[in-house]
Amino acid sequence: MVPTARREDPVQPALVRTRGSVRAARQSSLREHNLSLVLRHIVDAGTPMTRARLAKAVGLTRPAVSDLVDRLIAAKLVVESAPEAVDRAGRPGVPLSPAPGSFVGVGLEVAVDHIGVRALDLSGTLVTERIVEGDFRASEPNAIFDRLLSLSGLVVEQLDSIGATVAGVCVSVPGLTNPGGGVVRYAPNLVWQDVDAIAVLRRSHKLRELPIEVGNDADLAARAEARHRSRTVGGSRLDQNFLFISGEVGIGGAIVLGGELAGGLHGWSGEIGHAVVDPNGPQCGCGARGCLEQYAGKDALVRRAGLPPGTLVTHLVARAEAGNGPARAALQEAAQALGMAASSALNLLDLDTVVLGGAYARLFDVLGPTVHSILTERVLAARWVSVRVEPAASGDFASLTGAAMRVVDRVVAHPSPWLQ
Ligand SMILES: [Zn+2]
Repeated sequence: MVPTARREDPVQPALVRTRGSVRAARQSSLREHNLSLVLRHIVDAGTPMTRARLAKAVGLTRPAVSDLVDRLIAAKLVVESAPEAVDRAGRPGVPLSPAPGSFVGVGLEVAVDHIGVRALDLSGTLVTERIVEGDFRASEPNAIFDRLLSLSGLVVEQLDSIGATVAGVCVSVPGLTNPGGGVVRYAPNLVWQDVDAIAVLRRSHKLRELPIEVGNDADLAARAEARHRSRTVGGSRLDQNFLFISGEVGIGGAIVLGGELAGGLHGWSGEIGHAVVDPNGPQCGCGARGCLEQYAGKDALVRRAGLPPGTLVTHLVARAEAGNGPARAALQEAAQALGMAASSALNLLDLDTVVLGGAYARLFDVLGPTVHSILTERVLAARWVSVRVEPAASGDFASLTGAAMRVVDRVVAHPSPWLQ
């Protein structure tokens, strides 16, 4: 049945817009664009910018920039510091910075071996966090979300007490999520299928009114890594085109081109953990056999070294360094499997850099040389370009950082709703 419009329903605005209203809409859209442009420059600047330098950087007039900056200051998105220098006209330049701790993005994470909450402000500075380690394999979604909700409730209370505005929440999960929605389609190591994460989180009165989104853990960690690499100081920026591989219990991946995620048709690209290493290999959580995850995931590494489940990979490395044969063999096989899967991906994608994140960043000295040697041997382009393997530099629990950052990025992209 075709729904009939109720009398009080607004008529489609596009059909009745007058020239004046179209002009107003364009001006409003232009103002939003310029506000975002100015805020993005202030947030990304390595050192605080003055209005004069900002005007030059964004290509707007000084009065226009001043008006936009004043709005951002009134909204507590930007703060002024004490004048430091005198500009060419003899006026002191007032440095502008993102307001510390006033607006925060909250990242939540459900992982196989931990849950966590991390709040970052507009500059990406950590405001507060709570992380709890545990074993959440094959966990019941409601039970794990209840624990996550109590953690996030404590964090939101703390943020309220310091007067911070929570701009939204993004939840990181180790699986595929539906594009633009809140449903976890499939998370093999949690054994979740079609879990509506947003509906569950909205049960909390503290989160009910906030924008909530859901993202893949490796995508979010790659976002954090891309941002970190874009801000690297010291003369040059690190390469913004790379294949990101994150080693946890599962192995996630993401393709980053020009600093942006290349998500693929459905946003599900990068599932290198399920690249086949041996079709007759061990059974994987995804239902197939011999996936990379079964050779180089954290559980697989420990199992193949003959150690009890849950053994820390640092303990495994210590045993290997002490000359333990099975531990050394497990690490060597993992590095080889990782190198082969990564070389296939680089050949396919025409990339020359692999960034190893998650536990692989901590295991880089052990895994990196073998992975690099296999890439040099198997990537066709290695004849002409140097292929690189680098440890991720975005720190521990990078998915949490990326989740909080995604919320902050939305504020910077659309500041108007936060203006007073
Ligand atoms: Zn698999």
